[in-house]
Amino acid sequence: MKAHDGMYIDGAWRPAAGRDVIEVVNPADEQVIGTVPAGTAEDVDAAVRAARAALPGWSATPPAERAARLAALRDALAAREEEIAGTVTAELGSPLAFSRTVHVGMPIAVAGFYAGLAATYAFEEKVGNSTVYHEPVGVVGAITPWNYPLHQIVAKATPALAAGCTVVLKPAEDTPLTARLFAGAVDEAGLPAGVFNLVTGVGPVAGQELAEHPDVDLVSFTGSTAVGRRIGAIAGAAVKKVALELGGKSANVILPSADLARAVNVGVANVMSNSGQTCSAWTRMLVHHDQYEEAVALAATAAAKYGERIGPVVNAKQRARVRGYIEKGVAEGARVVAGGPGSPRERGYFVSPTVLADVTPGMTVAQEEIFGPVLSILRYDDEEDALRIANGTVYGLAGAVWAGDEAEAVAFARRLDTGQVDINGGRFNPLAPFGGYKQSGVGRELGTHGLTEYLQTKSLQF
Ligand code: NAD
Repeated sequence: MKAHDGMYIDGAWRPAAGRDVIEVVNPADEQVIGTVPAGTAEDVDAAVRAARAALPGWSATPPAERAARLAALRDALAAREEEIAGTVTAELGSPLAFSRTVHVGMPIAVAGFYAGLAATYAFEEKVGNSTVYHEPVGVVGAITPWNYPLHQIVAKATPALAAGCTVVLKPAEDTPLTARLFAGAVDEAGLPAGVFNLVTGVGPVAGQELAEHPDVDLVSFTGSTAVGRRIGAIAGAAVKKVALELGGKSANVILPSADLARAVNVGVANVMSNSGQTCSAWTRMLVHHDQYEEAVALAATAAAKYGERIGPVVNAKQRARVRGYIEKGVAEGARVVAGGPGSPRERGYFVSPTVLADVTPGMTVAQEEIFGPVLSILRYDDEEDALRIANGTVYGLAGAVWAGDEAEAVAFARRLDTGQVDINGGRFNPLAPFGGYKQSGVGRELGTHGLTEYLQTKSLQF
C-alpha cells in the first residue's frame, strides 16, 4: 500500500489543494494497493490555467518538434512497459499476459503512430484561392474510464498533443496509478511544462469541474452513456466542442453460410476478453434458428474454458451490476447455459463467464450494456430479421458479420448502423477510425480521424 502524493501540473508533481484521497483496490484480492489525491475545483483550475498558459507555445511549435517529443513519449512508455503492465494488472485485475500485449502494447503502438502523423500531416493546404490552416482546438479536458486504463489516455492525449492542443487529464477513479505512470513518461519525454497535466479525482467533482471549466475548449469523454449525456449538455450550453465515446451493445451476426464453430468460438473469446469490459464487445450473438441449438452448445463449451482464465471485473459495484443483469435476464426468460450469477471465488470481484440462451430482442440483457463477461444468444428467422435485431438498440459502436464468402458478409455489414464491423474475424486495427453511430457517441478516435477531432480550420483567401 503506497500513498501517492501530488498531481502533475505545469511540469511538476505538486501537492493537491485538499486532503481527500481515493483508495485504489486490487479487484483480484480486494486489497487496497495505494491512494491518490482526490482533486478539487482548485486543482482542476490550476491544471487548466497551466494548460492555457502553455497553449501559445505548444501550438506554435513546429509539427516536427511536436513529433519528436511524442516519439520520446512513446519511448518512455516502452521503457516502462513492465511497470505499466504490472500496474494495470494490480488496479484493473486483468491477467498479466493480456496487460502486456493489449493494455500496454496497443497504446505504445498508437503513441508511435501519432508521433509519425504529427511529422507528416498536412497542417496547411491550398484550396482554390484559399490557404487552409488546420489549427489546434485549444485546451482539451480529457476524461477517461478504467476499462483500458492506458489506451483510453493515449487515444486522447497523443492525437491532441500532435495537433498542438494542451491537455488536462482526469482519469478514472479505479485506475489512477496507470495515469500517473503516463504522466511520468510525459515528464521524461521533455514536453514543455503545462502541455500535459494530470488531476486525479472523482467524476462528479474533478471530472465535472473539468467539463465545466470555461477555459477548456474541447471535452473528450469516454465512459457511460449517462455521464456522456451530462457532459454533452454542459458542452452544448457553453458551446464547447465535445467528443463522446459511449457504450455499445454490438451484434455478432452469424449468417447461415458461415463457419459456425469458428464464428461462435471467436465470438465468445471477444466477449470474455478483458472480463467483458470492452465497449465494442459483441455481446449479442445472432444465429439462424436452424443452427441455434448447435451454436448454444458450442458457446457453452467455449465459455466454460474461460472460467479460470479471465480476471475479475473492476470493482464490487460492477460485479453487483453484472450479476443483477444475469438475474434480470433469467427473470425475463433467458436460459443460463454457462456461468450464472453465483460467485466463482471467495475473494476478488470475479464473475463466471456466462452465456444466456433464448434471449429475445426486447429483453433488458439484449438492450442494455452489461460490461461484464456475459454473452446473449438470440435467434433470427432470415436476413431481414437479423438486420432488424442487429440494428434494434440505441447503440451502434461495433459488430461482426460471418458468412461463407466475404462479399456476402460485406453486403450485410454495409446495412448495419454501427461504426466498426469485423468481417469473418478481421483483426482490430488501431489505425481505423473508432466511434459510434446513434447513442454510442459523437466523434471518432484513433487513426488520422482521431487527429482531426483536435483540429479546426482557418481559411485565408488571396
Ligand atoms: P462513468 O461514465 O461513471 O466514468 C467514466 C469517467 O467519467 C471516469 O473518469 C469518471 O470519474 C468520470 N465521471 C463520472 N461522473 C462524472 C461527471 N458527473 N462529470 C464528469 N466526469 C464524470 O463510468 P463507470 O462508472 O466507470 O462505468 C459505468 C458504466 O459505463 C459501465 O458499466 C459501462 O457500461 C460504461 N463504460 C463504458 C466505457 C466505454 O469505453 N464506452 C468504459 C467504461 C465504462
